[in-house]
Amino acid sequence: MYCYHCGKKIDETKVKSDPTTIAKVEEAKADTSVSYICPRCGHLIHSNPTEADVKSLAAAAHAEMQRGRNSFASGMGYSLIGIICLLIAIIFLRLAHKPGLNYALQVESSEFIVSMILFVVCTILIIIGIVLVTKGVLQQRKYKVLLDSIQNKTFYQ
Ligand SMILES: [Zn+2]
Repeated sequence: MYCYHCGKKIDETKVKSDPTTIAKVEEAKADTSVSYICPRCGHLIHSNPTEADVKSLAAAAHAEMQRGRNSFASGMGYSLIGIICLLIAIIFLRLAHKPGLNYALQVESSEFIVSMILFVVCTILIIIGIVLVTKGVLQQRKYKVLLDSIQNKTFYQ
């Protein structure tokens, strides 16, 4: 079920097995069978949505899509900086091969230490980037499906 106010999707099977995370409201309205309290914004989530609920949910879904796009964009930014770091790290690693010593790798040289630090930094940046990009893509896909179902008037919860 989706929260009409903020668009958060709650997993009802998890809600039922773990009552401490989300409090289940027993009686909200006479005509609704189940209701939950949104863990993010605290609004009441109930089945049989009214037209106003659906409108509110559509607006929330658009906001969530925008969040997904932002996450995707910042993930791409992190990845790009990570790739630049990787290139600089490779340059420093090559510089650690000293021409005066028959191009043998000098592990004690400052170039080698800088390249190792840059490798660690680029790995972290690329991992953060991939996580954000994946999160953004999945979020956009999820709310695209929701918006399509609202548009086709097939939305039900
Ligand atoms: Zn909410």
